[in-house]
Parts: sequence; C-alpha cells; structure tokens
Amino acid sequence: MYSIEQTDKQLLGTSAAIRYHLHFENAHRHVVRVVMEIDVAHEGSLVLGLPVWIPGSYKIRDYISTLGSFSLTNQDGKPLPWQWLSKNRLAVQAESGMLRVEYMYYAYEKDSTIRSSHVTRNHAFLNLVTCCLYVEGREQEVHHLSFHHDRLRWKNVSTSLSPVKEEFAPNEALVLGALNYDIVVDSPVEIGNHFVASFEHQGSVVETAIAYRGNFNPEWLQDRIKTLVEREAQIFGGLPFDRYVFIIHLFPGMRGGGLEHARSSVNAMDSWGDTTKLHRLLSLLVHEFLHVWNIKRIRPLELGPFDYNRENYTRMLWLVEGATSYYDDHLTHRCGFYTRADYFKILSKDHLSPFFRQPGRNEASIKDNSFQAWVKLYLPHDDSANRNVSYYLHGGLIFLCLELWIIAESKGVKRLDDGFRALWAMYKKRPERGITEEEFIEAVESATGVAIRENLTKWLNGKGDDLPFDELLGRFGLEWKEQTPTEPTKIGEEIPGMPVLVKLFTGLTLKAESGRLVVTQVEDFSPAYEASIGADDEIIFVNGQRCTSAEEFDTLLAKKGTESASELVLSSDLGMTTVHLTPKQMPDFALTAKDEASDEQKALLEFWLAR
Ligand SMILES: [Zn+2]
Repeated sequence: MYSIEQTDKQLLGTSAAIRYHLHFENAHRHVVRVVMEIDVAHEGSLVLGLPVWIPGSYKIRDYISTLGSFSLTNQDGKPLPWQWLSKNRLAVQAESGMLRVEYMYYAYEKDSTIRSSHVTRNHAFLNLVTCCLYVEGREQEVHHLSFHHDRLRWKNVSTSLSPVKEEFAPNEALVLGALNYDIVVDSPVEIGNHFVASFEHQGSVVETAIAYRGNFNPEWLQDRIKTLVEREAQIFGGLPFDRYVFIIHLFPGMRGGGLEHARSSVNAMDSWGDTTKLHRLLSLLVHEFLHVWNIKRIRPLELGPFDYNRENYTRMLWLVEGATSYYDDHLTHRCGFYTRADYFKILSKDHLSPFFRQPGRNEASIKDNSFQAWVKLYLPHDDSANRNVSYYLHGGLIFLCLELWIIAESKGVKRLDDGFRALWAMYKKRPERGITEEEFIEAVESATGVAIRENLTKWLNGKGDDLPFDELLGRFGLEWKEQTPTEPTKIGEEIPGMPVLVKLFTGLTLKAESGRLVVTQVEDFSPAYEASIGADDEIIFVNGQRCTSAEEFDTLLAKKGTESASELVLSSDLGMTTVHLTPKQMPDFALTAKDEASDEQKALLEFWLAR
C-alpha cells in the first residue's frame, strides 16, 4: 500500500535486506561511489531500475545517464550475468545470498540543486532518486542507507531519513533508513558544515539546514521559519509529522526554486539578495511548507503511488500548484512578513500583471496545461509565453477568485481554509488514495456551504480571460486598473541633450552577450510583433547608432519616444533587414482600495486579509 508517512521511531532497531552504501572519497571530482547490497532468498532474475523523473518536477530527466562503471557480483565477488532491459532498467541473474551492485554516480548539477545532486569537496547534497536503484517488486521493504564520509570533516547531516540507532561513533558510517522506496526518493540529504538549528512546535521537531555563501543572516531566517510553521499548522490543526527539515541553499548565481517532500523541502535562491529577494525567499518557504499538506498528502489521484519509469499525467496541477501559489504570498502577508500595501503590490506585479501580459493565457485550459506540463512548462522555448501560461500563475489566480467568491457568497464567514481543512480530514481517513476534481468540489462546497461548481468548472476548462477579476475584486471594494503613467524619478536639474530615461514597452526580451544584442522573445501583438521582429534577430543599429546593450537600446528608443517610429537594423541568418518599431508607454497596473467602498465591502476585505 502506498504511504510516504514515516516517524523516526519506526526505524530504530530495524534491519534491511536492501542496503545502499554511499562513499565520498571522490567528492572533489563530484563522483559518489554507490554499493548496493541486496539479500536474495532464491536464485533467479532480478530487475533493478532508476526513476526517470522526480515527483514534483514533471520532466523526464533520465538520471541513469549520470551512472556508470556497473559491477554486479555475488557475495564472493563472482561476476553475474546481467543486461539492460531498457534505458533505465537492468536484469541480473542473481544467486541466493547477497547480490552486490557497485556503480559510480556523477553528482554535479551546476546551477540549481532542487531536483538533482551537487557534491563537491566541501559538501554533498543528494536527491537519492538520482542514484539509488529500486529493486522491482520489493519497493515496499525497509531500505537502509549508510553514509561513509569523514564525519569529523563534514559534521552535519540533515535529512528526513531516520537513524536506525540512537548513537553512532565518530568513526562509524551513519546508517539511516526509510520504510519503503517511495520514502527513499522523497528524502534529500545535505551533508557538510552548513548552519543547523531546530525548534519544537506541538511535539514536532522542525530543523533548518542552510548551506550558504553571501550576505545573509541565518538567525533572521530561522526566526521567520518558526512563525510560518506555526501559522500553517494553525490552519490545518497541527503538524502531520514528528520531524521536518528545511534544506536551504543560498549561493551566488543560483537559480531559485523549491521542491517539496513529505517531511522536508529543498529551497534554493541566489544568495546576494537584497531585502526584497529575502522576502521572496520567505514566500518560497511558505509555499514549500504548504505542500506538506497540499500535494504530498492532499493530492490528485494520479500523484502517488507513482510510476517511476514514465510520465505520470494529471489534469489537477491547478489544485496542488495553483492553490499553493495563491497561498504563498497570501500567507506571507498573514504571517506578518508583508504589509497590506506590499501584498497588493505583489498581487499586482507578480500575479495579475504577468498573467495579463502573457498572450498564451488564452491558448489552453489549465487542465490541458497541467496534463502537458511534461512538454510545456518543463520544456519552454523562446515562443512559450505566446502559446502557454504557467499553471502556477493561472492556478494561483483561479484560487484568488475562488477565495474571494467563497468569502463574498458566505458573507464573510467562510474561506478557502475551511475547504482545505475538509480535504485534510478526507486524507486522514484514506491516506493511500488521492482525490478527484469532483471530490474537491464536494468537499469545499460542504465545508463552506457555498456553491463553487459552476464557476470553478468554467475557470478550469476555460481560458485566462474567463476569470472575473473586476467583479470579484469589486465586491471587496478593490480595483485593479491601469495607472496614468507616473513621472520618472528625476534628481537634480535637467541636462541639455540628456533624456530622463523612461523604459518604453516594445514586447521584446533582449540578451546581450559578447558585444551582441540579441532578441530572445517577442510578445504576440506587441509593438515588436507589429514591427516584424523575431527571436534570434541581432540588433545592430537603432536610429543610426550602434547598439550592444539592453540599456543602450532603451535609451535610444526613449530619445525618439512613442510618437514616431525608431529605425532598427537587424541581422539574421542570411542578411540584414531594416524594420520600424514604435514603442508604447509601459502599461502600469495597480491594485487599490476604492475610497468610496461600502461598509459591507470593507468588512469583506478585512475578513479576507485578517491575520
Ligand atoms: Zn509548488
């Protein structure tokens, strides 16, 4: 039976017939040596395999490509006959006794770590899905993992895997365990000299493991993690684990993102952050922690148990990523990390504006985009924004609408929290099975007393412009509308010949490299689209002047303004072209409370934003 639930107590004193040994003597070369020991009762064919994807990140990653130097022997070191059955599965003719499988894993994902591994001479971060083979048919057994590193040099091990005994001597390998293979896959490990701290909340332990380089104060973050854990626990009536680990990676130039697990999460961000960026990190942590409930436990029928050998399609990522994307900034406000003005600014700049600026919002329903996540969101190309919109962005706004609808229809008595509490109660009754769209609707309707079926069905099957923002925000005395262009910030007196730069809207995304300014994206129906500019065009001259950077481009365009066209000389694969581009004022939308809002509207707003 499928289960990702585990407590540390359950592993104490266990033994395992499937044991992994991870050796780090080649960490400086980013290579981990893995030795698997499998107790075999009867001789015969045994199939071993490595997942082609990691749950939570919907892309075929073929992790097997980084494994090599396989050796399969019996317990006496005698080589056994084996062969590949497919790209990620092999069959071995095993003898009774112990089967020993040894291989090398190149563990070095460079720019992000959340869904792969990163091992250096200084630390090791491992997603075990990348290097621990499953034994087909024996996934439900207890698995042990021994970590053979120098524990005096790498002092800390942070993971939700559970120790199999209370104490380990400093010179002995650390042995951790999982009740089944799904839990192995769901338990990343950070080993090194990272910052560690922990606190207890209602009998559960929450650990923080921060590996970082840069201008950052881990105690400040630890303090806020306490607040967000308490706030989220309050919504669901407690914490559903004995122990949880926040693994946080903050390194210069790192691509941001997170990946959720049942008793841990991995959170990554570029470390040279200013205040704004660190608040974005809080929102990321709120998001990943909410996944403890919404996706790891409350989940679509198709997401657990998993088929690790192929795509696992679901039309319901709107629930698990949409709701979580709505809640991340919303709860960051409810935690007190954002002021109301901050929250409105973020809703406008990070949620509403990007959605309405993306022509792809009207191309397909969120259910289709969820189903095709494997080849859409996870395989983006230069034209993606015109054909597709992220189910995070779209789904977050569907849940904003749903929350506003429930609050308004219940006259400020019920909210989305009530619906999620009902879904949580349902999980606790039958943790082995996920839910359907129908069950979601029924649970929310019976918990809130508000009819959501007609609206939600329309929003899930319709296009981006089907979302009734004006009407729903209006019921809260809010409006989201275009602002009159604000005056650019000017300091000092005007200097003849120097423009006050205002960035104009072209619909172009540009990249400057090695002295070349190249178009990477063109938004449909934008001024650049009208001017017949395409991705990969190199911009050579703007109004007769050589142009090699995006700032230069903006300045040259601003000089000419929006009244007349700027002349651009472009170079593409077979020659030069001249086009005429007339930019527009940059649209600037804002979410604001109307002065003339009624008392009823004001009361609904206060209920929605109550902390
Ligand atoms: Zn998420």
